[in-house]
Amino acid sequence: MQPFSYYRAIDLADAFGAMQRDAGGQVIAGGTELVNWLKEGIVSPPVIVDINSLPDLGAVEANAAELSIGALARMSDVAAHPQVQRNFPAIAEALHKSASQQLRNMASMGGNLMQRTRCPYFRADVDLACNKRRPGSGCAALDGYDRTAAIFGWSEHCVATHPSDVAVAFAALDATVHVRGATGVERAIPVTDFYMLPGDAPEHDNVLQRDELIVRISVPQSPVAHRSRYLKVRERTSYEFALVSVAAGLQLDGDGRITDVRIALGGVAHRPWRLAAGERALPGTSITDHAAIRAAIEGAFADARPRRQNGFKIELAKRAVVRALQVAGGNA
Ligand code: SF4
Repeated sequence: MQPFSYYRAIDLADAFGAMQRDAGGQVIAGGTELVNWLKEGIVSPPVIVDINSLPDLGAVEANAAELSIGALARMSDVAAHPQVQRNFPAIAEALHKSASQQLRNMASMGGNLMQRTRCPYFRADVDLACNKRRPGSGCAALDGYDRTAAIFGWSEHCVATHPSDVAVAFAALDATVHVRGATGVERAIPVTDFYMLPGDAPEHDNVLQRDELIVRISVPQSPVAHRSRYLKVRERTSYEFALVSVAAGLQLDGDGRITDVRIALGGVAHRPWRLAAGERALPGTSITDHAAIRAAIEGAFADARPRRQNGFKIELAKRAVVRALQVAGGNA
C-alpha cells in the first residue's frame, strides 16, 4: 500500500476542492470497498477525502411519491427502515442478503453502488491481464476462469459482472441516482443508465464523472414496489456474491393474473439487467401457472451468450425469475 494523506471535508465544495488539489484523490465514506482497493493495489491515491461529515447526505425519508435514500445512509439502517421494509421489500431483502452485518453497519449506500467487479483477475494481488484494471492489457477471463462471468452484454474486452445486490432492486423499481458536480449542477440518472456495458472501454463502470458525487437515490412509490421481492442464488448461504439474483415486483388483478411487472437480474452482466421482453410478455399470465410464466420469460433470454463455464446461469436465472415472481405474488 502506498502512503497517502487524509482530509476530512466539511461540505461538498470542500470535498471537491480537496479532490481537485490532488489529482487521483479518492473519496471515502464507509471504506468497506475503498480499503479493499488500496490493499489490492487497484488504486494508489495521493489523498483520501473523508465525506462522512458532509451534512444532509445520510437521511432516509419517504413521502407519498418516493423513497429518498441519502448517499451516506448505512446499508443496515436502510434495510431496517420501516418504510423500506413495508413499501420496498425487494430493497430491504437485497440489503439484508449483502455482505455481513458488520460490513452493512459501515458501508454507505453511495459506496455500495460504486463497488467494482469481483472478477478474480481484477482483484488479484499480482499483475494479470485485465482491461478494466490496466486498459489494453487484455482479459485473462476470456481463456481462464469464467464461471461467474456475464451471460448478457459482455464484450471481447471484458466479461465481468457487477456485484451490487441493491443496485438490482433499484433497477427493477425504476430508481434514480442523483449526482452533484463541483459547480453545484445536479444530474438525475436512472439506475439502468448509471452503469455501462464494457464495450471497448471496460475501465469505466458507470457514468459518474471525476468531479461528481452521488448525493441520493430516489425510488418511486408504486404498487409494484410494494409487492416486490429479491431472490439471491449463491454458492454459500451468507457473505457471498450472487451467481444469479432476481428483483421482481408485480401487480395482480382479482383473478390472480399479472397486470404489471418489473424484473431485473444480477450476476449476469456488467450492470443490473432488466428483463424488458419478459415484462412485456407476462401481463395476463396467472401467477399460479408456472409453465405459462416460464414460457413468457423465455424470449428475454434470446440474447444470452454464455461463456465456456457458465451456461448453467441461463437455466438458473429462468428458474430464479419464476420463483421470485411466485414469491412476490404470494404463490410460493
Ligand atoms: Fe478484467 Fe473484465 Fe477480463 Fe475480469 S473480465 S479480467 S475485470 S477485463
